[in-house]
Formats: sequence, C-alpha cells, structure tokens
Amino acid sequence: MTAAIDSPLEVNQRLSDTLGVELFIKRDDLLPFPFAGNKVRKLAAELDGHTVAGDLVVSTGAIDSNHCRTLAMLGAERGLHVHLVLHGEGAQQAPALVMLDQLGASYEVVPVAGISHAIAAAASRGGNRGLNVHVVAGGCHTPLGAQAYRDAAHRTLPEARPDYVFLASGTGATHGGIAAAVQLSALDTEVVGISVAREHERGVAAVAEAATWAGARAPHVSFLDDYVDGGYGRWGHTTREAVELGWRFGIPLDPTYTGKAFAGMLDHIEKGLVRPGSRVLFWHTGGLWNAVAAISRAAVKGGSV
Ligand SMILES: *Cc1c(COP(=O)(O)O)cnc(C)c1O
Repeated sequence: MTAAIDSPLEVNQRLSDTLGVELFIKRDDLLPFPFAGNKVRKLAAELDGHTVAGDLVVSTGAIDSNHCRTLAMLGAERGLHVHLVLHGEGAQQAPALVMLDQLGASYEVVPVAGISHAIAAAASRGGNRGLNVHVVAGGCHTPLGAQAYRDAAHRTLPEARPDYVFLASGTGATHGGIAAAVQLSALDTEVVGISVAREHERGVAAVAEAATWAGARAPHVSFLDDYVDGGYGRWGHTTREAVELGWRFGIPLDPTYTGKAFAGMLDHIEKGLVRPGSRVLFWHTGGLWNAVAAISRAAVKGGSV
C-alpha cells in the first residue's frame, strides 16, 4: 500500500480578478508521472486495493488513452503484468504504442466489437498460466476509483470551501466520488460535471452509480452535455477559446477534457449562473498528453489548437 498521493490546491489570483470570482484550482494535472491526471489517482487506489506483484491486470481503452498509459506505468512500478485491449486510431497512435512498449505492457488493437471477447481471452490465458487476473473497467470506472476521489475531495473541500466545483466528466468515477464527499459532509457545494462526450441520461446514470459506490444515497447529479462541442476528442470554437484563455493565465488545458469543463465554467460565470464573488473550484483532471497531441497537430497544420 503506497501513501495517498495528492496534488496542490492553488488560487489563481489574476484570473480570479478578471472573472470576479475566487478561483481555486485543484492541480490533478500535477499528480505523478505519467502526468495523466485523474487516472493516476483512480488507478493507484485500484491496483493497491486489488493486486500484488506478479498479478496480471487486463483493461481496455483507446490507444492514446490516459487510462491505458497510466495502467502500464503504475503496473511497471508495482511489478504487474499489464495487458491492454486497445481500439481506435489517430495521429498519436505510434508514440503512445512506443511508450506502452517501453513500460513493458503487452497489447493488442481490436475493433470495438471485439473488445469484450479479447478481454475474456486474455484473462483466461493468464489464468491458464497460473496468474491471478484482475480486469479493470475502462477508464477505471470502479468503486475504488470513485472512493479515491471521495477521499481526495474530503481533504480538499474543507480547505477551498467552494460554492461550486467544475470538472470534466467522462466515465463518471471522478465526478461521482466528489459528489459523494459533498453529500456525506452535508456541504452546500454544487458539483457541476461537464460532459466530454456522453449525453445527459447516460452520463447521469454512470455518475450516480459511482457516487453510490463511494457511499452516497440517491445522489443529486448535475451533469451538463451542453459543452461536448462535437463529441469525444473533437472540439470547436468554444473549447478552443477556453483552452487559449487558460494557457494565457498559466493553466495548461487540453481540448479533449479540461478545455470543455473550463468552457462550461466560464459560461456559467458569464451568464451569472455563478454569483459574482462566489468561491469556485476548478478541479483540473489532467490531459497534458491530449494538450501535447493537439499542439503537435497544430504545429504541423499551422495555427492554434
Ligand atoms: C479520463 C479523464 C477524465 C474523465 O474522468 P472520469 O472519471 O472518467 O469521468 C477527465 N479528464 C481527463 C484528463 C481524463 O483523462
């Protein structure tokens, strides 16, 4: 069991003055290598809770996913065998695969329809070799992942005492964990998850499930799909503007995750849905590799992300 990892909580005074709120930033982008943000917190808890050195861990995600590179990294650290069932393609495919090789993970790339079969086959091959096998849900959408975020929120919320928390919400464990901490501490904080892909109904169900894993009862879930801006891994003008603004104030944002959450937060402040002078916590979930990918693409094409 490793000690609980944590990240800095910062006040961005210059942007607070510009926006007319007190803006706190929880810097989960600064969680340890591979700088993959919230996946480091979730997967460290998951692996420490369910595995020991020598076990086989099987999971799935897109080739360039933060989940997969983090699992390969933390698995190497802990002496686990890691097998990844990958899908998708893209410009970042080759570097992502080289990194997985360097970390000693094995992987296969399959069509989306073949994922569950490939996971079951890899698990059964491991079992036949006499290994203990642990299958981790994509994105580490697991009880221990959600509980890790509940615990992090229990440490962070009393310090920031936010009226609002904004964060990027994907598979829902991060959002659910934070929402559970708010309910369990009977805080008056509104946790607003900005969808990076899912439409409202599916997103709410996944976040509520995760909040329940973390101990909440009938959780209230605020999950907004208004800032998806073209779908997962795509973005348009609104996201691009938010990313640019963040960087100008020293907050490294990416257009796949944190840029969308930031756009949602800015829109709420602009429209007065967040009262002026409020304490606002932007929970920065990471996305450095996504930002680097977008910057590399922009450098080739010319222009901005
Ligand atoms: C995976 C990810 C998210 C979404 O987290 P979930 O717990 O799946 O909702 C947000 N931001 C970044 C940078 C991520 O990699």
